[in-house]
Amino acid sequence: MTLRQANPTPGGEGDAAHYTDPMLAMANYQLDLAAKHLGFDQGMLDWLRTPERVLEVAVPVKMDDGSLHTYTGYRVQHSTARGPAKGGIRYHPNVTKEEVVALATLMTWKCSVVGLPFGGGKGGIAVDVRALSRAELERLTRRYAFMISPIVGSRRDIPAPDVDTDGQIMAWFDDTVTMIRGEADPAVVTGKPLDLGGSLGRGEATSRGMAHCTEFAAGRLGIDLSKATLAVQGYGKVGRFYAEIMYNDYHSKVVAVSDISGAYFCGDGLDINAVSAYAKQHNGGLAGLTDAMSGVEFISNEALLALDVDVLAPAALEGQITARTAGDVKAKLVVEGANGPTTIEGNTILNDRGIVAVPDILANAGGVTVSYFEWVQGLQFDRWDLATVDRRLLNVMKESFDNVWDVAQQHKLGLREAAFLVAVDRVAESMTVRGLFP
Ligand code: NAD
Repeated sequence: MTLRQANPTPGGEGDAAHYTDPMLAMANYQLDLAAKHLGFDQGMLDWLRTPERVLEVAVPVKMDDGSLHTYTGYRVQHSTARGPAKGGIRYHPNVTKEEVVALATLMTWKCSVVGLPFGGGKGGIAVDVRALSRAELERLTRRYAFMISPIVGSRRDIPAPDVDTDGQIMAWFDDTVTMIRGEADPAVVTGKPLDLGGSLGRGEATSRGMAHCTEFAAGRLGIDLSKATLAVQGYGKVGRFYAEIMYNDYHSKVVAVSDISGAYFCGDGLDINAVSAYAKQHNGGLAGLTDAMSGVEFISNEALLALDVDVLAPAALEGQITARTAGDVKAKLVVEGANGPTTIEGNTILNDRGIVAVPDILANAGGVTVSYFEWVQGLQFDRWDLATVDRRLLNVMKESFDNVWDVAQQHKLGLREAAFLVAVDRVAESMTVRGLFP
């Protein structure tokens, strides 16, 4: 990384308080800090911060009972300076324009920190998918895909699954765009089912990338993972695979896992394969685990965060390590699987207490990295074997982690500040070298 020499931006980090979304506040706080280090002036900072395009669409859906319901959807392209926008689509009742802007912004820095040729985007619909039938979900998805289709495409903006969206939804999205355009574009979305051009290894890629980051950070901190204890918050797509990899491949002792029903603790270590089998039989959930397994104790999700473990992996949702909870964290290492699990205040407390946190934009970037591999395979109508995907993922994560670690050491920064410094510098470099059109 080359840091450009210039005059520091006066003021800098004051803006975070303006954002009601804590993820956006954190992302822009970190951007301000990075811009200050890099010596950018206010004009450059505003250009870096402002999303390129924010699209809000009406999504009318004919419900099964014949009534009409109109949902609100968004697609945000925060930056395309380094390549097409890339980012998932979230279906959740709490989706707001600001949340989608926050997630799109995080995608810009995430793709940049791992060196992918993508910018950042994100989409979402404010909807509770649990209240929809499968047919309603398909109509919702197809109408949304149609409404945002003018700005998506394999060389413009490539969606993917996020919270409460999956491969089936990507398949409907892909098919809708194919029908509209009259030609196949297998790289228009990622996270597709394997039969439709999905990549091997995508399902567990985020967790595998987290596991690599855990290994690299543990190596630097002198933690022996085969003797280490772990607590994992969230047992969905990210948390479950992560717990399985750490248990089976690194032989770590996973003493606690959790989901929306609460947390489950066993001081001697949980049999993670049995926990996953239980979750599979119970619709993915962990409720009732204490009755099914001897020696397992029910604790609160907050108590999980405060466990005396070597590694804590928040892999559920945003805003978990906060001014209120960060002081109780006893882990030596935090590896962020979720997007935005740590607030600005929580991050300051972790930094002050010397707790090393591998930030979300680096720790969970394995998912978008394998999405990039899927996009490349789609553009080439090609298919890679799993060993190739895993080897390339390891290379990307290793190079990215080492780079961020070295920048942190060199500039005496936390890993989050260093990751943003690397990411922001690369995006700014691309913007500067492109110049300002027209
Ligand atoms: P998911 O819906 O599959 O799983 C979420 C898990 O969190 C579930 O086990 C759920 O029960 C649990 N949970 C919900 N509320 C909780 C609470 N209050 N306390 C504890 N657990 C709670 O979602 P996912 O795909 O695993 O995503 C989890 C996080 O990782 C999100 O922040 C997402 O944006 C982020 N992420 C996901 C990917 C990916 O590839 N899936 C990639 C990057 C980042």
